[in-house]
Amino acid sequence: MKHELEEQLEELERQGISRRHFLKILTAAGIITAVGTQKVHAFSSDAKGKIVVIGGGAAGISMAARLMHWLDNPDITLIDPSDRQYYQPGFTLIASGVYQPEDVWKKQENCIPDGVKWIKDSVAAVDPVMNQVTTANNEKIPYDFLVLTPGVQTNWEKVEGITHDTLGAGNAHSIYDFEGAQKTWKALQEFSKTGGRGIYTDTYTKHKCGGAPKKICLLTEDYTRQHGTRDNVKLDYFTAAKELYDIPFYTPRLLEIYKERNIPINLNVRVKGVDTAAKQVHFEKVETVGEEKVITPFVEDYDFFHFAPPMSAPDFVREAGLGWTEGKLAAEAWVMVDKATLVHKTYPNIVSLGDVAGIPTSKTSAAVRMQVPIAAKNLISLMEGKEPVEKYNGYAACPIVTDYGHVLLCEFDYDKKPVHSFPFSMLDTSKEQWAAWLLKVYMLKPMYFYGMLNGYA
Ligand SMILES: Cc1cc2nc3c(=O)[nH]c(=O)nc-3n(C[C@H](O)[C@H](O)[C@H](O)COP(=O)(O)OP(=O)(O)OC[C@H]3O[C@@H](n4cnc5c(N)ncnc54)[C@H](O)[C@@H]3O)c2cc1C
Repeated sequence: MKHELEEQLEELERQGISRRHFLKILTAAGIITAVGTQKVHAFSSDAKGKIVVIGGGAAGISMAARLMHWLDNPDITLIDPSDRQYYQPGFTLIASGVYQPEDVWKKQENCIPDGVKWIKDSVAAVDPVMNQVTTANNEKIPYDFLVLTPGVQTNWEKVEGITHDTLGAGNAHSIYDFEGAQKTWKALQEFSKTGGRGIYTDTYTKHKCGGAPKKICLLTEDYTRQHGTRDNVKLDYFTAAKELYDIPFYTPRLLEIYKERNIPINLNVRVKGVDTAAKQVHFEKVETVGEEKVITPFVEDYDFFHFAPPMSAPDFVREAGLGWTEGKLAAEAWVMVDKATLVHKTYPNIVSLGDVAGIPTSKTSAAVRMQVPIAAKNLISLMEGKEPVEKYNGYAACPIVTDYGHVLLCEFDYDKKPVHSFPFSMLDTSKEQWAAWLLKVYMLKPMYFYGMLNGYA
């Protein structure tokens, strides 16, 4: 299922025309505006310094691209071990049969901006006092300024009874993985035929796209309805959170949808493990009674199970002393940055954004899109010896797919107030909309690959 525009872009790419030359097409299609691209080019700086970017995902590549536009003398090295650039929001759509696996990735070598030096290796350590990065191959790379964007570390081993390699065993699935999403799609279709009980869960740590587990649950429900098998399946949603969703503008409608679709919601429940042979999930109900935390274990049978792995900052972040050491963000060592400027609180030559950043907002690429120009401008100010003045308002978005054809487009800021960045002002955005489905399925992916990663969107 592809937009005609995307087909055309891919055909040009097959003919060997660089992905980076598609700007005019995107501008013509209104995906990025001419005004927007002029704005990007209206700013420049002759600041100098060696910049090292750790991690070339949504945040790292977009930052490198912006800095290439804005610096007259850029000296940028990007370290990332991956051959592929994944559009991860597409994993949910693979798991529901809307996208094919090959729709969501491109070769990393084609995504790295021209002029950026790529070291294809993993970072093993950072010494923020000596301003030096060490890779897994023991290469030592000095820097003047560091952009810390390695995303999350998925800690699969924290769910007992299953590993990344055994994903799918005992019909236990996770869309938080490219292969996992493909297995989920096969299993979802089979589950719709055989029927039984589906258990859908998230995790207790901050995780990327908090909406994703809810989306795959609602899409399963709609899939069974469309295939006339809804009466054969019982679906239950278990969340580790104390409410299904915590953005007041959108929560009432989401709760209503779960009720209308007969999916009971269980709160404050963590997955401890899964017995894939017995097809049982081991849960812990976590309650606070007075001052005390009371944990009550219980077990539920399932026929289909979806879970999310606990997530944290990569180990090297904690080991380098770059993570929060107190407060809610300390347990997973999310990077200790100022939530407005995205500059590190101890080391002012480090900026961090994207999923690894320790800021109180949702981990989404929509958030990354808004963080990039702010972090890039602030980094340039630091390079110029000035104070960072650009401020991020916490914008994040989560398009919650509620069925095949509708999306509840949740956009909000640090105050959990709704913010609208797409031209849907004539629609009631507190409810699911078809227009938002079109945006999610056809527009956001080209915007990611051709706009954002080129430093324009
Ligand atoms: C199932 C799912 C659904 C999602 N749905 C949505 C959605 O609907 N909307 C939305 O906006 N967002 C969604 N997201 C979230 C979005 O994909 C992330 O927020 C976004 O990719 C974060 O960008 P990032 O650059 O911080 O991390 P990533 O894009 O994950 O990139 C991290 C990069 O760092 C590299 N790296 C990791 N460790 C190291 C190391 N030690 N050394 C060097 N490099 C390293 C990796 O190879 C990778 O290239 C979803 C994610 C998933 C998994």
